[in-house]
Amino acid sequence: MKLFCIGSSSRGNGYVLQSSNGGALLIECGMPLVEVKKVLGWKLSSIAGCVVSHRHKDHSKYLPEYLKFGIHALALEDVFASFPKLNRTFCKSIEPMHGYKVGSFKVFALPVVHDVPCLGFVIEHDEMGKLLFVTDTMMLEYRVANLNHIMIEANYSDELLEDAISSGSTVSSTRERLLESHMELKTTEQILRTTDLTAVNEVVLLHLSGRHSNAEQFRALIAEAVGKPVYVANPGIEINVSKIPY
Ligand SMILES: [Zn+2]
Ligand SMILES: [Zn+2]
Repeated sequence: MKLFCIGSSSRGNGYVLQSSNGGALLIECGMPLVEVKKVLGWKLSSIAGCVVSHRHKDHSKYLPEYLKFGIHALALEDVFASFPKLNRTFCKSIEPMHGYKVGSFKVFALPVVHDVPCLGFVIEHDEMGKLLFVTDTMMLEYRVANLNHIMIEANYSDELLEDAISSGSTVSSTRERLLESHMELKTTEQILRTTDLTAVNEVVLLHLSGRHSNAEQFRALIAEAVGKPVYVANPGIEINVSKIPY
């Protein structure tokens, strides 16, 4: 199983999980479909579906395009309702604390805390084991057992945010918005420290802020905390997320 990161920021989010027989699950549709096509060698027929966390356009902007190409989309009703006149043929409304089958993937929707309704996902596949995907949330109320892979937001650090506010590059009202909607680095660390990481192969950090993060510093700090390989989801990276990677 391979994980491709197409985009992971407020400029657009998109990830592809591709199994060895070609079957693929898309996470988020905030990047143009052509980027997905490049990763999948232009074989859209292999896409089992696309799960979307919430209605913000950096996660959902290209939904109408994906639907037009017959890709099944699973998202909160709130996401579909945010697009006027959406063709609902390939839309499936999902709810928090429910599980869904998408091709050979199983997806469980977790409620998270953002400034609009938002979901995290626990995704399972025979080849991959269990993957946690959490983004655009100030915190995570649940701890998921027996994880093999973790993709989690590390949006900003208080320190870099305060620096940006004092230097005038960020307005101070941003602080209140971020506090209630995005994950601060220490929260990411705390979640990982209180999760059983025994079977976790790697941690992938998502949705780093352009102004209030430092990729290498964040990666190093989390790597130190978890003692596992840690990656930053830079566009273009590809990670082997097989259950047994070697
Ligand atoms: Zn976002
Ligand atoms: Zn958002």
